[in-house]
Amino acid sequence: MRFKDLCECYFKLENTQKKLEMVDILANTLTKSDGSEIGKIVLLTLGKLYPDFVGIELMLAEKMAIKALALATGKSEKNILSFLDEIGDLGKTAHKLLDNKSQSTLLDFTNQQETEKYDVVDVWKILDIISQTSGEGSADKKIRILSGLLSKVTPLEARYISRLIAGNLRTGVAVQLLLEALSKAKTGSRENKQFLERAYNRCSDLDYVSSVLYKEGLEAVKEIEVKVFSPIKVMLAQRVSNSEELLERFNGKCSLEYKYDGLRVQIHKKENKVKLFSRSTENITKQFPDVIDFINNAALENEFIIEGEIVAFDHEKEVILPFQHVSQRKRKHDIDQKIREIPVRVFLFDVLFSNSTSRLDLSYLDRRENLQKIVRETNNIKLSHQAIADNSDKIDAFFHQALQDNCEGIMGKSIGKDSVYQAGARGWNWVKYKAGYNTKLSDSFDLVILGAEHGKGKRAGKYGTFLLGCYDQIEGVYQTFTRIGTGFSDEDLAFFFQELKPLESEKPKEYQSDVESSIWFYPKIVIEVTGDEITRSQMHTCSRGLLENDMDGLALRFPRFTGRIVQDKAPEQATTNDEIRTIYLKQ
Ligand code: AMP
Repeated sequence: MRFKDLCECYFKLENTQKKLEMVDILANTLTKSDGSEIGKIVLLTLGKLYPDFVGIELMLAEKMAIKALALATGKSEKNILSFLDEIGDLGKTAHKLLDNKSQSTLLDFTNQQETEKYDVVDVWKILDIISQTSGEGSADKKIRILSGLLSKVTPLEARYISRLIAGNLRTGVAVQLLLEALSKAKTGSRENKQFLERAYNRCSDLDYVSSVLYKEGLEAVKEIEVKVFSPIKVMLAQRVSNSEELLERFNGKCSLEYKYDGLRVQIHKKENKVKLFSRSTENITKQFPDVIDFINNAALENEFIIEGEIVAFDHEKEVILPFQHVSQRKRKHDIDQKIREIPVRVFLFDVLFSNSTSRLDLSYLDRRENLQKIVRETNNIKLSHQAIADNSDKIDAFFHQALQDNCEGIMGKSIGKDSVYQAGARGWNWVKYKAGYNTKLSDSFDLVILGAEHGKGKRAGKYGTFLLGCYDQIEGVYQTFTRIGTGFSDEDLAFFFQELKPLESEKPKEYQSDVESSIWFYPKIVIEVTGDEITRSQMHTCSRGLLENDMDGLALRFPRFTGRIVQDKAPEQATTNDEIRTIYLKQ
């Protein structure tokens, strides 16, 4: 497929707000693929070159992109910067500048330049070279390659190449919409999306899923199973606010486990090779060489996928340390020093693959039994503390013991026949009961930063307040829930400014907001927030349409930042409108 055709599709997508229309537009283009390059089309459409877990990102510093654009258009960098300031988007800037250039070269017949016809794969390959160029002189090389590409494509193609480089295509296409479009394109119906989603949840690899769909058909997609080194989308938990409710959820009997306050890890092992993935399927192997050794030491089988929580651990005192310690282990530098400073222990709680077989469809108790056969406990590897409970006194006692042992609460897990591992789902097979859930004042929420206001006074030059939102899983949109200005240290504000500045954008389509914001961001950063109370609000859109009065939404009163940036949660894993509504109804 010509890259230009794909860009024309992106342009149409950019110019509509309607979800169904977007599915149709995208499906229409996807039907034109012969399947050979569908994986690349799908990845590029999500603004990526590889699935997240591969860990190769395309993003280029804005400065470099500006230099490349200057070379391609013959304008000065200063000139481009002022365009960019005015237009506010690198893609539109590139489009406009190249448009101007082609008009002037058209007038100058002696200098007329033909644009080259690039296929999707050609562009993907060039971007891949840019992303993988490293070492001495690599910055200059990247700029040269990029400017070479920009000077040979049409202005519309330059628009989307620049956006790919800036890390966001800005078409409003997220995974769910893409799955629907693929389903429509290849099977004629959006309904088959469920099978694509099932496969995607098992391998987190849309390149692979879409290629199987195009080359082997839907039946083959239905057969896609988990495989070692392709992370499985993690199962998440619903929340309950007391032991009675927990017990009720499981018809009077369930398993309890400590809820460790650390970093979730999915451990993939085959022979001597071990890879670690975070909750959002990011490859975190390099940050935890110590954990690799622990696993190799404790493994009783050659090949498996297991899950657990990495916590910071004081081996002398035999105590778990607070989350703030282990979160420092996510750094990508000074790893050896951090290993010495912050030793960790892993508490395992699930097995997803062993003995060459997916274990997702086993019941919880069978998986737990299997887990015990796969690893032996060592000083650094333990199974999560667990017990079966059939009354609320036992749950309360377990809960209090968990808090005393420095855990943040407990998990209740179904022990029924259907207690399978629901990849990618936040179902009721698992529930979390955290300290604070039983007092309405200290509930905490993981919310996405959607927008901000410019800071004044002490906060001048940074962002002053933030607009936060929750995620609506059904509609795939973000809804506003509160505006926050409290609880931020100077360091927090400096950090947010640095992280959020490149994410500034026009209001993203997937934001349902009646609240105005001076600055909007692409959804990326999730922070933990507490508040005093959830109230009805005609201003915020959280759960609007799901309350008695259709115009009402929900808002968090007196929100405070807890100091915790939830780095291992993707924005789609933020607290959902459903969770907030449930808490509200219980207040
Ligand atoms: P939350 O982050 O509040 O949605 O809670 C779910 C998270 O709790 C999971 O993603 C795990 O990282 C963590 N967790 C800690 N202990 C356990 C456990 N025993 N079973 C499952 N998840 C656990």
